[in-house]
Amino acid sequence: MAAKIIDGKMRAKEVREGLKNEVLALKSSGTIPKLSVILVGEDPASHIYVSNKEKACSEVGIASEIHRLPSNTREIDLMKLVAKLNDDKNVHGILVQLPLPDQISEENILNSILPNKDVDGLGAQNMGMLVKGEGDPFIPCTPQGIIDLIKTTGIEIKGKNAIVVGRSNIVGKPAAILLLGQHATVTICHSRTLNLKEIISKADILVAAIGKPRLITGDMIKEGAAVIDVGTTRTAKGWEGDVDFDSAKEKAGYLTPVPGGVGPMTIAMLLKNTIKAASKK
Ligand code: NAP
Repeated sequence: MAAKIIDGKMRAKEVREGLKNEVLALKSSGTIPKLSVILVGEDPASHIYVSNKEKACSEVGIASEIHRLPSNTREIDLMKLVAKLNDDKNVHGILVQLPLPDQISEENILNSILPNKDVDGLGAQNMGMLVKGEGDPFIPCTPQGIIDLIKTTGIEIKGKNAIVVGRSNIVGKPAAILLLGQHATVTICHSRTLNLKEIISKADILVAAIGKPRLITGDMIKEGAAVIDVGTTRTAKGWEGDVDFDSAKEKAGYLTPVPGGVGPMTIAMLLKNTIKAASKK
């Protein structure tokens, strides 16, 4: 039976509609939620991502500003800008678009953002709280969107075998922690994993966050599995996911498309985190 396609674009629209009301409520109490985005360098993909974030903010009524810095920016100067935004009472969320140029330590910059403005949730404090299951941290946007999409299928996560392929701090690791928090039995795979095919074949829930177009094919997938394809690689054919859509849709029970799956949810979750930051203030 062909998989049900999880429509991330539609779900993201629904989320944004809900957020508009939250923004109105905040505005009526005198707070205009504001996101500051810092973009260093000329990477064309990053420029597109940042413009999409700016557009999405304006659509729900969040104020936003983009600080565009040259690729030779020094770490100290970026730190100074972050410090200035940390001190700015009108700024509720700060996002530093990754990747950063080689001369700048991502870790130093992400950790310099005040935890209560770290709407990407990538700083050590928010990530540490997430891992410990402590308090109410900002959860990284892509993994948060992944869990939301899995929940829209109505399948119960509790007790299921969830396999996450990829262990980055941005996607794989936090996605695995969130699935664990939902009581899945979680396995994390990476480039040194042996028997990837065998492990994947046991997944009731499969999250592919690799960056290798169509690495996962239908024959590897368990019949009826929920498959979330995070991969987005620009190839001659356009944007491609990590999952071979055509063969996977014959085996999976649920499947996200690329584009139109996880991507729109990432932005919706950024808006959600920014509103949360403004509400916490
Ligand atoms: P990343 O930092 O490059 O991590 C990729 C992960 O995949 C690594 O853990 C790597 O293992 C693993 N891997 C590489 N080759 C593998 C193989 N042959 N078998 C098994 N595992 C393998 O990438 P990322 O930032 O997590 O992003 C992953 C993909 O998601 C990319 O295509 C990216 O563009 C996309 N993405 C999409 C969104 C969205 O909003 N749609 C957001 C973020 C990322 P090692 O750790 O051993 O190297």
